[in-house]
Amino acid sequence: MRALILAAIAASASAQVTFDDLKNPSKRPGDWLTYSGNYQAHRHSPLTAIHAGNVANLGIDWIYQAKIVEKFQSTPLVVDGVMYVTIPPSDAVALDAATGVKLWEYKRRLPPKIQTCCGQVNRGFAVLGDRLFMATIDAHVIALDRKTGRLLWDTEMADIKLGYSATHAPLVTKDSVIAGVAGGEYGVRGFLDAYDVETGKRRWRFNTVPGPGEFGNETWAGESWKTGGAPIWITGSYDPETNLTYWGTGNPGPDWNGEVRKGDNLFSCSVIALDASTGERKWHFQFTPHDMHDWDATQIMMLLDRPFRGANRKLLVTANRNGFYYVLDRVTGEYLHAKAYVKQDWAREIDDKGRPVRAPGKLPTPEGNRVYPQVAGGTNWNSPAYNPATGLFYVPAREGSSLYYFGEAKYTPGARFQGGYFNNERVMEDWHGAVRALNPETGALVWEHKLFIPPWAGLLSTAGGLIFSGTEDGYFKALDAKSGKELWHVNLGGRVIAGPISFAAGGKQRIAIAAGSGLFVFGLPGQTARQQ
Ligand code: CA
Repeated sequence: MRALILAAIAASASAQVTFDDLKNPSKRPGDWLTYSGNYQAHRHSPLTAIHAGNVANLGIDWIYQAKIVEKFQSTPLVVDGVMYVTIPPSDAVALDAATGVKLWEYKRRLPPKIQTCCGQVNRGFAVLGDRLFMATIDAHVIALDRKTGRLLWDTEMADIKLGYSATHAPLVTKDSVIAGVAGGEYGVRGFLDAYDVETGKRRWRFNTVPGPGEFGNETWAGESWKTGGAPIWITGSYDPETNLTYWGTGNPGPDWNGEVRKGDNLFSCSVIALDASTGERKWHFQFTPHDMHDWDATQIMMLLDRPFRGANRKLLVTANRNGFYYVLDRVTGEYLHAKAYVKQDWAREIDDKGRPVRAPGKLPTPEGNRVYPQVAGGTNWNSPAYNPATGLFYVPAREGSSLYYFGEAKYTPGARFQGGYFNNERVMEDWHGAVRALNPETGALVWEHKLFIPPWAGLLSTAGGLIFSGTEDGYFKALDAKSGKELWHVNLGGRVIAGPISFAAGGKQRIAIAAGSGLFVFGLPGQTARQQ
């Protein structure tokens, strides 16, 4: 066994991951090198051995039990037969991707009191060369040696005593690791940072809440920018041709009381397009100006090159928590189109500049006001997917409303700063979910697969014509990418609230998903390399 492990480590050490690999992941189709599978955030695998005609035979190859009670939201990376998985709160393991045999583990010592809104979660690694990068729950960025799990550098991003934390998988571009901070429910002042992959030294910082003298500071009344939130908690995307990186930002602080932060509150609930080398802002687009519903724009910003109204465009598309699907020009930031993809009643329309025209009487009130979509949004952080063959955008959708309450907002460093609250239990009668396939140009619905409960799992598209999705009640499913027809399912006995991936190891295609406290890896029985 030890010889096998050493051989696997030696094999992985020989496989360097270069910036060119990250730009062209289809050259390494058996690997999964970034959180979203490619820089364009398509979460699509080019592997075809598992397809609509044989997916019904899919079975479990191996399981890794993480023995945790925390929510397991990690997307694994796979490099040349070795899988790297972050384990909440901020631990990690390397596993032989063909067998699940553990090669090394990393355990992080954490301070006793870390404030987080929604659990001490972690969503995954970034990789470059022989290094792995993680943003840890104590708001540090760290680098690990990919061969051994040894800590190489450890840089603090922010002070946890002020309510900062970090949960998303970083993004590596060229020689920088880009990561930001969570804490939007604690009145933090958000930012996005870039660090030297070799040393961990900070290269740049972009304040997602501008201070005095910075563009947009006037969109915050008085001193409200100091506690303005706009955190970063899902991985951005990147266009190597323009060297622009795109990140969605979270809610303004406090969440539900907007009276203490009058103005549009830039750059909360926005997408920011930054020069990846300098952190300079090229453009921004705010989906929900002066948000009062906790509708963070921390959804995946997907990049598509395709026709829009007859002309080829470089697009950025995203299904936002506020219930609308958006199409932007990703070079200029020009607003092109929006369409509701779930029931919403807070906006009459989106105007021709992309600004919502609010419906009257839909803000939070002291008595509680029922508004669609629900506080978790029409979708949330869980990944959408894109299949280049069908040309469809797939989104995990959430239907339903919440009661939104306006409340007092008094800032105390390190304490919750939300200015209200919400209630779901009294208005859940029409809650449900769906996997929806949208026309990416128009946002029009092409098909849907209904789910009993709004989903927290991300989607995976494969070139075998499949969409994989998970559910709150433990199901992991394969759908036909063209029609949405369910082709296979299994119940894994735990919440599926992570993003699936596909990779090849031991000569066969596999699918991996976290569920409950386990990581489950599936393949076809008896399949060999010849069938790939
Ligand atoms: Ca939030």
